[in-house]
Amino acid sequence: MLATFSAAGRLRYDLGGRDEARKGNEEAGVETTRRSWMKGALAPAAGAFALPGLSRAVQAATSEYQRPKLKITGVATAMVQVHGPQAHIRIYTDQGLVGQGEATDAAVGTPALVEGFKRFLIGKDPLNVDAIWEQLRRSGIFAGAQGGQFITALTGVEIALWDLTGKALGMPIYQLMGGKFRDRVRMYCDSDMKDPDGEEGARKMPWIAEAGFTAMKMDIDDARDPARFDRVNRTASNGEIDRMVRQMRKVRDSIPKAMDLAVDMHGFYDALTGKRVAAAAEEFRLLWLEEPVPPENIDAMADIRRSTKTPICCGENIYMRWGFAELLEKHAADIIMPDIQKVGGLSEARKVANMAEAYYIPFAPHCVVSPVGTMASAHVCASVPNFLVCEWHWINHLDAWKNWVKEGEIIEKGYITVPDRPGIGVEMNDAAARKSQMPGTAWFNEKT
Ligand code: MG
Repeated sequence: MLATFSAAGRLRYDLGGRDEARKGNEEAGVETTRRSWMKGALAPAAGAFALPGLSRAVQAATSEYQRPKLKITGVATAMVQVHGPQAHIRIYTDQGLVGQGEATDAAVGTPALVEGFKRFLIGKDPLNVDAIWEQLRRSGIFAGAQGGQFITALTGVEIALWDLTGKALGMPIYQLMGGKFRDRVRMYCDSDMKDPDGEEGARKMPWIAEAGFTAMKMDIDDARDPARFDRVNRTASNGEIDRMVRQMRKVRDSIPKAMDLAVDMHGFYDALTGKRVAAAAEEFRLLWLEEPVPPENIDAMADIRRSTKTPICCGENIYMRWGFAELLEKHAADIIMPDIQKVGGLSEARKVANMAEAYYIPFAPHCVVSPVGTMASAHVCASVPNFLVCEWHWINHLDAWKNWVKEGEIIEKGYITVPDRPGIGVEMNDAAARKSQMPGTAWFNEKT
């Protein structure tokens, strides 16, 4: 279906290129054969070269190869609730091609923001991905385009533009990003486990190993810990830290020795606690300790990192190059984990990964989205040298995960094989995905 779609699209675009050439020639008052253009070009009419029509004619007539000519005709969103609110964006074109993107976490405002972007997007050439992104970002400088919901909505749009570009050119996104360093992208399983000591741990840990994952993540923050003295204060008591250490030991001893273990604190604690937990965790040789303190104070994160041998990872709540520039310059993380569905988009995530490469820092993206967004992330992971591992977070939503796209299960033995299909390379199965639709929201252009 995709191949047919793409092949037909390319044929139309080639015709479109010749149409454009004819249009340019007519506007410039020249005939439409190449020979006639050459005669015109050699004529001593220098002023005519300033004509925009002639300029287009030169571009169109000097090569038989023409880039696809598309125009955006519509944009629509659908909101789902799986791991928090997640937005799916579709961009429609005059050539019948449709691009899809996904945004997460700060995605609740996406439908309204995308509605606001629509006036700018309609009529634009979707293949100018970075230029569209930059113009929309600059338009929002006074409207919160430094992060949060604005950049998250823009991220979903950017991913849909990349999907469209790949489909229009008949190429997978990784190819358009400079090619791939690897055929398979290593995934880790977030265990989404509340009770590692009990039945849940006994059930999930063997499942993760049998599924072929080579790394997993667990959470140790617990606001309901009975050893907690104060629900607001960020300082963990000795009793809480003892519980964290016990749980890390339990999981470390229950999973294969070769499996990497990452541990998340969700930015829930203060610097004092972060340092104490990082020190206590050193014996477990973690893959990383994630967000021991909140994301706002990079100096505090750097202070914890300097205090311990435990690798510190953060970045899921940091946006764009400018956010990561400070993190990298201050040497605040051993590993960075931008969320590709909210950091700014595929181009932005790749730029951030390249910046980290300059510091010899690995790139391990946060990823809690559907197979659409996860596969989009896989293209970025394949295209950068310093990729370490990418998250998968749907262990509690297996049916939704397996049925979300028409291609079915995309993770095999803990790895995603990056597809050679055009664009992202997966297509949403609307009937399955719609089971997770947020009540009261539109399903793309269709009202509920
Ligand atoms: Mg986290």
